[in-house]
Amino acid sequence: RARKRFGQHFLHDAEIIDRLVRSVAPRDGETVVEIGPGQGALTFPLLEQVAHLTVVELDRDLIGRLRDQVPEDRLTIHQSDALRFDFTALAEQGPLRVVGNLPYNISTPLIFHLLAQTGAIADMTFMLQKEVVERLTAAPGGKDYGRLSVMVQYHCQADYLFPVPPGAFQPPPKVDSAVVRLIPYARPPWPADDPAWLSRLVAQAFSQRRKAIRNSLKTLIAPEVFDTAGIDPGLRPDHLSVADYVTLANATAPKPGPGTTKEPTP
Ligand code: SAM
Repeated sequence: RARKRFGQHFLHDAEIIDRLVRSVAPRDGETVVEIGPGQGALTFPLLEQVAHLTVVELDRDLIGRLRDQVPEDRLTIHQSDALRFDFTALAEQGPLRVVGNLPYNISTPLIFHLLAQTGAIADMTFMLQKEVVERLTAAPGGKDYGRLSVMVQYHCQADYLFPVPPGAFQPPPKVDSAVVRLIPYARPPWPADDPAWLSRLVAQAFSQRRKAIRNSLKTLIAPEVFDTAGIDPGLRPDHLSVADYVTLANATAPKPGPGTTKEPTP
């Protein structure tokens, strides 16, 4: 029986499963990590492509069943909360291919958790609530474009792959789903001098998404900065591109105080 608190909706549509695994196209020798393997709907097809797979699953009962079916040299199981899991520790042999039909109740915090570890990740292919995929891939100016869009697209190329109807799952979820691929940039196309400051600006901007950007950011940015940056201060936060946010962040990043700069080592 599926457990609601773990967001368990098991994939059972063979065509969708096949399409998802083909989108990942894992190659033997790559380090492939599945988040939330559940009853193994993706795990078993993935194990047909690679000799070894790592999974992170919270539900002990499901882990027991997987363990009984796959030997340890083929499947490494971490019984762990993916929200606290250190994925970088798995990347010893090279960047990770991450896959998952994610529990929808934790998808946004999980994506932010993974964005902090993109240096260790080659790509991520996720089944998510369709609405979330639309936010991840949204362009400026639409209703779906927000903090999640800007921060994900700062770190990753984000591609909408295909939609998935509720009937592909058992039990069917109440919402439509879709598959997304996120490919972290080795170096962001618009690098921020201080990514934490960028993140703070973006969060503040979208906390008041109906206000002009000069107002929603007035506690953080002096009005003349918009002129220097060449950004119309009357725009609403959802009309600024990722590049605009980086420009604003780089024009205003708090400078490190005296004595905090590192001396070059002789
Ligand atoms: N991959 C399976 C499939 O496609 O049929 C299961 C997908 S189900 C939507 C989500 C899975 O994530 C469940 O197996 C659930 O137990 C697991 N899960 C829920 N919360 C988790 C967490 N915080 N960390 C790791 N796994 C979690």
